[in-house]
Amino acid sequence: MNFCSECGHAVALSIPEGDNRPRHVCTQCGTIHYQNPKMVIGSIPVWEHEGTLQILLCRRAIEPRRGYWTLPAGFMENAETTGEAAVRETEEEAGANIELGPLFTLLNVAHVHQVHMFYLARLLDLDFAPGEESLEVQLFAERDIPWDELAFPTIRTTLELFFADRVKMREGVASAYGVYSHDIRRPMLAPREPD
Ligand code: ZN
Repeated sequence: MNFCSECGHAVALSIPEGDNRPRHVCTQCGTIHYQNPKMVIGSIPVWEHEGTLQILLCRRAIEPRRGYWTLPAGFMENAETTGEAAVRETEEEAGANIELGPLFTLLNVAHVHQVHMFYLARLLDLDFAPGEESLEVQLFAERDIPWDELAFPTIRTTLELFFADRVKMREGVASAYGVYSHDIRRPMLAPREPD
């Protein structure tokens, strides 16, 4: 940030009185411009039919990670709830109609100032189509998930936890999906690197 959004003057980094870290402070009007983490919200659209389970993924049409696969997700807007954001992003990116389920993952990506949240969701029909930000959308069974072409580590972590829960339920160890909170420390743009 270089200029004050209140008065247009230059801002400078300084620690305001009573604070403990540098902020962008306007040198003219004194407004303190706080910067806080952004929320990225998405869904895990599940299609279950005749004993098979598939997940809807989108191939990104935009940078970063153009051409890589993601769960439908994006930045939360002002004046909407996290659930509304998940439904909206799924409509916008995948043209998909979902019934939103419970929260599944909450992933802190502190090094890029983001928190990612993914909701379980039931795909209501097969009437989906790529939106502006997607090249294509496609259903994947677990064995077909393009693990080496996933856009971000938060997508991989969420899918790994999802299929791990499926195993637990199949083996009778769990009766429902869990809720998971993790800290992601891997670089966001190098998903192939190990932890
Ligand atoms: Zn100002």
